[in-house]
Amino acid sequence: RQIIANEDSSKLVNRPPVVTILGHVDHGKTTLLDAIRHSEVAAGEAGGITQHIGAYQVEHKGKLITFLDTPGHAAFTAMRARGAQGADIVILVVAANDGIMPQTREAIAHARAARVPIIVALNKIDRPDANPDFVKKQLADLDLVPDEWDGNTMVVPVSAKQKTGIEDLLEAILLVSESMDIKANPSSNQIIGTVIEAELDHGKGVMATLLVQNGSLEVGDVILAGKAVGKLRAMFDFHGKKIRKAGPSSPVQVMGLSDVPEAGELFQVYSSEKEARLIAEERKAQVQQKSINAPKASLESLFNRIQAGETKELRLIIKADVQGSLEPITTALNEIEKGDVNINVLYSETGDIGENDVNLASASKAIIVGFNVQADSNAKRLAEVEGVSIRLYEIIYRLTEDVEKALKGMLEPEFKEVQIGKAEVLAVFKISKLGNIAGCRVTQNEIRRNGKIRVIRNGEKVFEGDISSLKHEKDDVKEVRQGFDCGISLKGFESFAKGDILECFTLERSG
Ligand code: GDP
Repeated sequence: RQIIANEDSSKLVNRPPVVTILGHVDHGKTTLLDAIRHSEVAAGEAGGITQHIGAYQVEHKGKLITFLDTPGHAAFTAMRARGAQGADIVILVVAANDGIMPQTREAIAHARAARVPIIVALNKIDRPDANPDFVKKQLADLDLVPDEWDGNTMVVPVSAKQKTGIEDLLEAILLVSESMDIKANPSSNQIIGTVIEAELDHGKGVMATLLVQNGSLEVGDVILAGKAVGKLRAMFDFHGKKIRKAGPSSPVQVMGLSDVPEAGELFQVYSSEKEARLIAEERKAQVQQKSINAPKASLESLFNRIQAGETKELRLIIKADVQGSLEPITTALNEIEKGDVNINVLYSETGDIGENDVNLASASKAIIVGFNVQADSNAKRLAEVEGVSIRLYEIIYRLTEDVEKALKGMLEPEFKEVQIGKAEVLAVFKISKLGNIAGCRVTQNEIRRNGKIRVIRNGEKVFEGDISSLKHEKDDVKEVRQGFDCGISLKGFESFAKGDILECFTLERSG
């Protein structure tokens, strides 16, 4: 929709809705896509055998619907990561015998972040263990209240395997799309679209599937898709039939590109091949530059974007060790003074941070917040490449403090906290010249003279600051190891209590 922002509104006409199917593994996405594809054959359409090119169209009641037919969330995520609106409508497949699963939540988060409406296909309704009412309740709990319960989510029972309910699903898609503004200008000279998939075929060269989103693409056009350029030599529809021209929402396979573009990349038609090549060269140079210093989606930079009016939303993905941690985190976030900025938690769930989380964060320009969890090594690597910020916390107030600071625009350069060790206060001594000294035992790792100390009482921070002296017996020391006793005094804090936990840490500039 953003693509047509500068089109003359009188030239805009309805185009077919582009639909993507998301859901948990094994809930029936592939089977459903097959069933829908064959519904066209059943309706007596020409063609029959379709080529698999990553997208296809079906006709229902004289209206076309375009389906993205790519495995998993790959295409949708890739498109969104590059700022393209991947689809107009998301079909969320939920198996009626299995209910909401982790990838179901992830799919909902994707759709919401992209502000794309969701239609639920309640699949496997034929199974004896199907429990549609239970799943509807689960959906309602996630704010997808079924329309039959006076909500505004269409929930369509289907059996992809027995091919039942497919017409109802197509009907629901048309109904939802009619309530939206799904338009384009087929005669525009701004001919734009997205790469759905592409590969190198040894006989034919680069074969790319494109989704035309505005204007009409023609054989002979010069296109630039990411870093790939080319004059289109031939074009095919999803039946494999040669065509010369394709309008908005049409998936087409094209030949003639110089390189293999990446899925999700935008393409555009250029009148001058020379200009297109020049831009491609520039992009190639830029990409090398960018991979050297990928921008960090830090809280700081997000705040800048919020201030610049680019977004009024701080998007977070929250991962925590146990379910019990999630609620207090959400509550604490709700209590923050936010002004007119919206904190949008795309999803919160238990478990370590994985590649999926990073992919989603990258596509949604969100920050990942971990609470007593870790990021696995693949996730870390991907986050580095994608410039996604992962922030790990052990205490809730540290998290809310950071978010608060970010919203106030006073976040200091990002520092990474490195844990050094912990000590417990066993007794408090009053020393005339020095004031109160905490008599401690080091309970974890070590305490370092040049580290910072956070004083925790009953799980809450009461102070954070620098050490003014660290003694073992009577000697000033640089460090004291686990199991040994020490005396600690702090700059600006004296009111130690027996049982206080002193956390020692250092701050290192990250990145
Ligand atoms: P995907 O991983 O979401 O693409 O799921 P698949 O389409 O591969 O389906 C997973 C399994 O569920 C396969 O064994 C399908 O045959 C089965 N399945 C899919 N839809 C239905 C259905 O409506 N009813 C039943 N009983 N099984 C189904």
